[in-house]
Amino acid sequence: MTQLEAAKLKTPTEEMKKIAQDENIEIEELMTLISQGKIVIPKNKNREFEKVMAIGKKMRTKINANIGTSGDCPTYEREMEKLKVAIDAGADSVMDLSTGGDLDKIRKMILENSSVMVGAVPIYAVAARLAEKDMPTHKMDGDALLKSIEEQCRQGIDYITVHCGVTKESVARMDRSNRICGIVSRGGSILADWIRKNGKENPLFEYYDDLLDIAYKYDVTLSLGDGFRPGAIADATDRGQIDELIILGELAARAKEKNVQAMIEGPGHVPLNQIQANMIIQKRLCDEAPFYILGPLPTDIAPGYDHITSAIGGAIAGAAGADFLCYVTPAEHLCLPDMEDVREGVIASKIAAHIADIAKGYPGAMERDIQMSIYRKNLDWEGMFSLAIDPVRARQKFQKNSDVNSCTMCGKLCAVNIDRK
Ligand code: SF4
Repeated sequence: MTQLEAAKLKTPTEEMKKIAQDENIEIEELMTLISQGKIVIPKNKNREFEKVMAIGKKMRTKINANIGTSGDCPTYEREMEKLKVAIDAGADSVMDLSTGGDLDKIRKMILENSSVMVGAVPIYAVAARLAEKDMPTHKMDGDALLKSIEEQCRQGIDYITVHCGVTKESVARMDRSNRICGIVSRGGSILADWIRKNGKENPLFEYYDDLLDIAYKYDVTLSLGDGFRPGAIADATDRGQIDELIILGELAARAKEKNVQAMIEGPGHVPLNQIQANMIIQKRLCDEAPFYILGPLPTDIAPGYDHITSAIGGAIAGAAGADFLCYVTPAEHLCLPDMEDVREGVIASKIAAHIADIAKGYPGAMERDIQMSIYRKNLDWEGMFSLAIDPVRARQKFQKNSDVNSCTMCGKLCAVNIDRK
């Protein structure tokens, strides 16, 4: 039985009981929201891990950190260190996006060592195998893709990104569009190319029922990927993006019918004044299925600082209803992130998620800010560090003026001290 099936039958699972406690919600309400497809619990039946969490309506906004090897940097140890750095910094999820080296080995290592949910994009493994043999990705075999998905689900992946909304019709529409950046999703571009060159339907769309059977077997949550997410703010909210979202909404409904949990992936690059509308449209078209957004980045001109750009977009999107934020690191658009990039990306994303939770009125979210303000008023430095999202950075930066217990910003002219007197 999947979590969704159990929720429909009003049979609380151990995971639901724990989540109800963690998120301060009545178990009946939690089960109702899961049964309606508005909350998912990404946890594979074949995997046990410490921090099982839920994503969706009335839940704390969660964040994901992408890790994984590339063809240029196939170093396992480095990725395992990133896993630790991401979780220590507060990631609620990690995605293994490996495309270089022994992919089964690195996936196994991540699954064994992660205390949080693990996601993957199964098509990468198939594409990487072809690339190793110098074969183009349009030579991919549809059956091999489904077999690889089943293999990764059997290994214990908790949720998978599947670009089922990239269809013959939607690719044709995309090809008629005047986008600047075209298709920027790796999975989306591989499947669109496959459809064009083979003249056939996307196997993930054509054999969606088979995919649902696999996901049901292992209770793997589908993360319905946005293969046509905008990669430039000028491309945002266009026909290609919304066309795919309509398809994803229909596929999420079919998943719910078959007791398979599903969430929807979203943009991407979106100007600030379109972010709220994007959240409303997704919730409306997808019956409030959890929304997992990749950014969004409200400007294209800040390479090197895209963790900041994405935190601005993520906070606005979260406040408007996004449930799950995928981090963006300072390395975005430039290179494979290093350890410090991963840490900064997670922290930036956590800031965005927390700002969103305050705006959403998530129970207790603002208490931490209130207590921080009390500590500030009392110049209680240890108290401040204990509540900081990044206590390490806060402690590193702190320079004390010992005469008046202030910091060196204003020294003896510390406003807090003057006001207290
Ligand atoms: S010195 Fe200035 S910045 Fe530092 S605690 Fe006092 S008022 Fe705040």
